[in-house]
Order: sequence, then C-alpha cells, then structure tokens
Amino acid sequence: MSKYLSKRFDKLTPYIPGEQPKISNLIKLNTNESPFPPSPKAIAEAEIELSRLNLYSDPECTVLLKKLSEILGVKEEQVIATNGSDEILNFAFMAYCDNNTGVVFPDITYGFYKVFAELYNLEYKEIPLKDDLSIDYRDYLNAGKTIFIANPNAPTGIYLGLDKIEEILKSNPDNIVVIDEAYVDFGNESAVKLINKYNNLLVTGTFSKSRSMAGARLGFGVASKEIIKDLQAIRYSTNPYNVNRMTLAAGYGVLCDEEYTKSNLKEVIYNRDYLSDELKKLGFKMTDSTANFIFTKHEKISGELLYNKLRERNILVRYFNKEKISDYLRITIGTKDEMDKLIKNIKEIIREVL
Ligand code: PMP
Repeated sequence: MSKYLSKRFDKLTPYIPGEQPKISNLIKLNTNESPFPPSPKAIAEAEIELSRLNLYSDPECTVLLKKLSEILGVKEEQVIATNGSDEILNFAFMAYCDNNTGVVFPDITYGFYKVFAELYNLEYKEIPLKDDLSIDYRDYLNAGKTIFIANPNAPTGIYLGLDKIEEILKSNPDNIVVIDEAYVDFGNESAVKLINKYNNLLVTGTFSKSRSMAGARLGFGVASKEIIKDLQAIRYSTNPYNVNRMTLAAGYGVLCDEEYTKSNLKEVIYNRDYLSDELKKLGFKMTDSTANFIFTKHEKISGELLYNKLRERNILVRYFNKEKISDYLRITIGTKDEMDKLIKNIKEIIREVL
C-alpha cells in the first residue's frame, strides 16, 4: 500500500475470490458457476447490443426491470438492478449501516459481509452457527443491528425456513434484514413474497448461478418502494450506468427463456442428489444443501489433502482454511459427466491414501 492510502483503510482485508485459473482441461467446481452456457436468447439479445456500445446503457434498466418484476410478482418500483449481487450488498451496507447501526451475520457465511463491514469501519458481530452448521434464528431476534443472512447459507447450503425469517423480521422492526438469496432457486422458497408484509426486508438475488450469467455481472434487490428509493439514491450517487448494455440485454433474454432455466435447475438438483448419494457410499458426510453446491467432509481424509489431491488431477473445488470447517470441501454441482469424473477420481484418491 502507498503512504497516500487513507487511514480509514488501515484494517482492510480484501475479499479473496475463488481461483479463476487459466489451465485448460480443468473441471472447475470452485466458484458455484453454472455448468451450462447462457440461454441462446440471452446471447442473441446481448449480440444486438454490441454495435450500440458507443451509447450509455439505460440508467433506469427499464426493459429488464419490467420483465424481472413480472416474474417476481412485484411492482417495477420494488426492484433495483446492480452489477452482480455483490453490488446490491455493498449498497445495503452503505445505506443501512453506520456508527450508530452496526451489523450482524453468521460467523460462517459469505465472506464479503465481513469485508464490507471492515471497509466501512463498522462495528460487527459474527454469530456462531450451531454445531450442525445451521443458523439458530433465535440468535437474530431483537438484534438491534442490520442483519445479513445468506439463505441458503454459504458455504453450508443450509436453508432457513421462511417462518423463521418472519420471526427475525418481526422482532427487528427498526432494522433492515437483508436476505441474500444467491442460491434460492435450487429448490427453496423465496422471501420475495414477504416484501409487502415487512417494510424492513431487503431480498437480494443474482443471475450468476441459476441463470448462467456470472461473467455478465447482474444482480438485483427486491424490497418496499421506499427501500428501493434509498438504494437507487446510493446507486445514482456512485454509478448510474452500473449495468452495461450487453448485460441488461442478456438478462432480459434469459428471463424470456424460463424453460431453459427450469430445465437447468432440474439437472443441477438431480446431479446434486446423485453426487451426494455416491459420496455417502465412499464415507463422506455432508450438510443438507439446497444450493448448487455441496459441503462435505470425509471421515478419514482431511479437507486440505483431498483438495490438493484433486487439484493435482485438474479438478478444482473450494477449501476454506478456517476453524470449524477446515475439514470440509465445497463442491459446485456440474454436469453429470463432471460429477462422474469427480467420483472416479475421489475413488482413486481414497485407494491411494488410505
Ligand atoms: N451472495 C452469496 C452468498 C454468494 O455466494 C455470492 C457469490 N459468490 C454472491 C452473493 C455474489 O454473487 P454475484 O456478485 O455474482 O451476484
């Protein structure tokens, strides 16, 4: 860092994204991307925009938000589009946390919450998960701070029922509760249906996972009209053209192709169950994940060793060198073929090391 960097960043520890290696022939199961290409409709719509890149994108994101709000069953003024859901999370930290209002989130969750908390020098509290790695909703009652919960949680994949989310919302009427639904589409009920009932609820979502658009960077927030107004004010004060032309068009395109998304979701869920069953036969235990990844550990082989052995075989999964979860691997669900190759390699590694 240079001597010029503001002192307010003294404590900054930047987020470390999952590796994006340049190796070919790699089975990449480390950053929860979709194994399927974007919808042909998304590609076609984005291509049209290529020749219009001399023009700024629509700051109101009109076409995309109209379609998205229809699909979500909310009003257009209850949705905001952002550059990935990381950006809506950032906006929420800017809008709803400060010296007076701190923030709480689980001790094991999406790593960016802590990074944002430190970026903004906030007082934050990390609430331990239960021994089974699930969230105890009672820990968040009357929190008196802004709450961030990923649902399903990452990297555990465990979903917290909407009845529990409602209890949290009811007991925190003076604080915003952010429910990060990056992985909600893989077999869970969304909290979007609660936004008209609770004016302290902000639900965030992404096109990165279920809609095969991680590289396009498209996320969104859904909440009451007033909350969306707050977030739009932050957006117009930072970057009104945060979503580029091609991404807006591709996002619209994929929303016009719900069949494609639904069939991909079905396949991921099938492959998740298949991989889980096969790994259980090999001595693995796992959380009850309802996301596009599993969180698993072997009874005899350490997470680090397995991670390294898989890497030697050009299979990349995610390992967290962190207390409580250092024996676990987070494995993104890929195609059936990728899952078969993974299982075959794991069988060979078990034979080699045990
Ligand atoms: N929330 C959670 C829980 C995530 O795991 C991720 C992606 N790693 C995000 C938000 C951000 O995703 P994106 O910015 O691609 O929408």
